[in-house]
Amino acid sequence: MIQRPAPLAEADDAVNFRLAAPEETGTGGVVLVSPSVIGSINRGRVLQALYDNGPTSRADLARLAGVNRTTVTGIVQPMIEEGLLIEGEAPRSTGLGGKPARPLVFNPDAPMLGAILLLPGRIQTALVSLTGEVTAQAHGRFDPHGDLDAFRAVLFDTMAETLGGAARTPFGIGVAAGGMIDSDKGLIVTVALAPILDGLPLAAILKERFGLPVVIDHHPRALLVGDRWFGPGRGQQNFAAIYTGEVLGGAFYMDGKVYRGLAGSGGELGHTIVQFGGAACNCGKHGCWETVATLSWLRREAAARGLSDPDTVHAARLVAEAEGGSATAAGLLDLYARNIAIGIANLQQTLSLNYYILHGDAAMGGPPLARRIGEHVERFVLMRPNQEIVIAVSGNGEGRTALRGAAGLVVSDRLKLVI
Ligand SMILES: [Zn+2]
Repeated sequence: MIQRPAPLAEADDAVNFRLAAPEETGTGGVVLVSPSVIGSINRGRVLQALYDNGPTSRADLARLAGVNRTTVTGIVQPMIEEGLLIEGEAPRSTGLGGKPARPLVFNPDAPMLGAILLLPGRIQTALVSLTGEVTAQAHGRFDPHGDLDAFRAVLFDTMAETLGGAARTPFGIGVAAGGMIDSDKGLIVTVALAPILDGLPLAAILKERFGLPVVIDHHPRALLVGDRWFGPGRGQQNFAAIYTGEVLGGAFYMDGKVYRGLAGSGGELGHTIVQFGGAACNCGKHGCWETVATLSWLRREAAARGLSDPDTVHAARLVAEAEGGSATAAGLLDLYARNIAIGIANLQQTLSLNYYILHGDAAMGGPPLARRIGEHVERFVLMRPNQEIVIAVSGNGEGRTALRGAAGLVVSDRLKLVI
């Protein structure tokens, strides 16, 4: 799990860091001979600098991460010995004297990370390299109201197919799951659209079956981690990921850290109230943000407005039809943008993150939808002088980003990073 932040100071405890084999600890965790939150933060900073900047020398890593050279050496040396990092080719000498430093890079041949995306009715699995390459993808489907044994069989088969493609034992398995998650206990608390998963101790089930450490987190939070390590969130200190589809969800990254809240319960953005006495939500309450900006809402509105084939309407189709001159499509697209903007504006007023990354259907609407959302957000919030609010679009595809994020959860957990 991500540890709590602490006041920063130089610490050389990371010299004692090493990755333990799962069976060595019994918990699948990492042995820290001298556990320290400060060491975790420094490790996170150094690895983040590597992810953000690509091949980087030790001296540059120290500068970018704000730690001294000794600390960098203490962090990277065990990772070189573990085969996680390698030394790349030194850049050609500039002729100005001095030997150019060899940059450090992630080892493309290091063990892969197992990743699972679990959404109501569907399972997607993959192997993800430390450099974010997604391979050995497999897919499964299950009846979200059906039989739990049938679900387990599909889950195990799908993951076994993916793991069969691994040349070496993966570091662990990261799961991005829709619904309410207890990330501390590794269980699914409840999923409104897949009640058979309610209360399922998923991490324990996967660990028993595959003998690997398992980390589980909320689907939008995995998107956020994927954005941070490999997507438009690289280098950002504050941002939120917003997902629309059958559900609406989000997660946020504040002051350089993923925000989780108690046992991962923070960030239930889809269930913030935007309409007093509004429509009934899947969660049992009324007027949630999710009731005015999901695909099912969009399709009901499309039917009410007389759009053709309303049951297949999505953001990309609305954009195309609006650009083709349909005033009805343009009107609905603008309402969708406004309704997404309401929640973003509330988040902006509360946290002033200034940077929002769209996922799922909203991302499929591309820059035309993002631009409309941005315009509505600026109308809703109290803008400060020179303030800029960016609405970015995740271009990597929802499944790919979630799988990379799930893998990122494993990296963070196994290396005890604060990211
Ligand atoms: Zn709700």
